Amino acid sequence: MSLTLDTVTLTYPDGDGRLTALDEVGLVVPAGTTTALVGPSGSGKSSLLAVAATLVTPDRGRILVGGTDTVALRPAERAVLRRREIGIVFQQPNLLPSLTALEQLELMGRLDGGRRVTGRARDLLGAVGLGDLAHRRPHQLSGGQRQRVNIARALVNEPSVLLVDEPTSALDHERGAAVLGLLFRLTRERGTATVLVTHDRARLDEADAVGEMHDGRLAAPAATTAG
Ligand code: ADP
Ligand code: MG
Repeated sequence: MSLTLDTVTLTYPDGDGRLTALDEVGLVVPAGTTTALVGPSGSGKSSLLAVAATLVTPDRGRILVGGTDTVALRPAERAVLRRREIGIVFQQPNLLPSLTALEQLELMGRLDGGRRVTGRARDLLGAVGLGDLAHRRPHQLSGGQRQRVNIARALVNEPSVLLVDEPTSALDHERGAAVLGLLFRLTRERGTATVLVTHDRARLDEADAVGEMHDGRLAAPAATTAG
């Protein structure tokens, strides 16, 4: 399923007035493709991910996952859609210290109606190159390995949409590049509609499209040679 933002506006309270974090943003991300978002700090990149994740409701506009307008859903319906259809990867992996890599993933299935996802969790840990480390806890993993667990966890409920905010900022260049390459590959293989906020311009040409944000506005994303 694709992700579509249709003239989405988001404001925050700011003193006596409102600050416009997203200004009539439009974006279409087809299934199986990655759109990279770049732009200065404060330009609205994380706000765009937050509304796409249904964590924040915009003032105006529509956000479509497949054919479903998530803004129009009731809160309980939106919570189910978020668990099933939206995978989120933030800068810090936020893994639970007491759980093994495999258990981090299994927990996501439990949160989604008690589904058993052990087989899929093992498959995903293999896909991110951690097949032999499934029983390690976070403190026994490197920063890059923890971010790989984070990515695998975001995919365990087979979401349609994958939202990724600066996943490489805590990693050195080489490990960061490997994580970006992994995200591009998983997006193609798993068919997710992926939005990747990144400061890392090194592998941007491997995204299918690149969009620049400034002051809450998104210029029409330009297709790259990969797309
Ligand atoms: P970016 O991710 O590009 O750095 P953000 O989306 O985080 O940008 O922020 C966009 C603007 O919205 C900034 O001016 C920021 O200060 C403001 N902002 C972000 N989150 C909030 C919030 N929860 N409350 C008020 N203002 C916010
Ligand atoms: Mg941000």
